[in-house]
Amino acid sequence: MDDYNKLKKSLRNTQILIVIIIGLVVFGFALDFLAVQKTVSVIEENAQAKPLKTQYLVQNLKGDALETWYAWQPRESLKIQIVDKDNYPKEKIDAIKKAIMSTETIQIDNRLVFKGDEGTSTYWIGWKGVIDHLRELRGIEEPLEISFTDKDDADIIITLTNSKSGEGLSGVTNSLVNDDERTILRSYITIYEADLLSNEHMEIIIRHEFGHVAGLAHATAPEDLMYPVIQTPAPFISECDVDALMHLYTGGKTSQVICES
Ligand SMILES: [Zn+2]
Repeated sequence: MDDYNKLKKSLRNTQILIVIIIGLVVFGFALDFLAVQKTVSVIEENAQAKPLKTQYLVQNLKGDALETWYAWQPRESLKIQIVDKDNYPKEKIDAIKKAIMSTETIQIDNRLVFKGDEGTSTYWIGWKGVIDHLRELRGIEEPLEISFTDKDDADIIITLTNSKSGEGLSGVTNSLVNDDERTILRSYITIYEADLLSNEHMEIIIRHEFGHVAGLAHATAPEDLMYPVIQTPAPFISECDVDALMHLYTGGKTSQVICES
């Protein structure tokens, strides 16, 4: 009788253990599934959303419009001013800061970005991550110090306006350059209909415009963040954008973003 009870008890323990293991496995799958679902739904949302049209312009000190490459001089710090930021919800301003300041990367399935081939590609969420990565590759030890200021001495000025662009644009970047030295002196980003943009779209459009600020022109590939109309299901900074910047800042003398699919 005693042995029977022992056997019964150990069987019961085994059953409990099996239930716990199954529970953990199912929970693990559920978590993984949720994470994947979230990424996919964000990507699908972006694909369905109205495309964000952009334009950029490079002008010298005389006001001539120019179509060639320009780059920032080597520097330790960069100051950014967001004009009228107090007129907008904190979450919207945080979205702007995220697109600039994040150092995080994300892996996205190539098939979702119409690259056809299997596997995943790395994307950067924010420009700080890209800039520090490029500085590291170039042997610059100190990361770039990026700060936000309310003073007028900023290098980059972001203006948010509720008015509509006559050309139906969501964002415009205008860089003032020194023609002889091929350097960017100051960049101005304007975001139109800022009150109507969702926080996510604000983040995406700032991410695109900041690519122009860094010196990039538009990409030839529709699936890239730097395509003139942002329609990519993966609106993040691609390896292709990073390669183009590396080329520009290592004497490549071009701002073109040419992506191989
Ligand atoms: Zn653009």
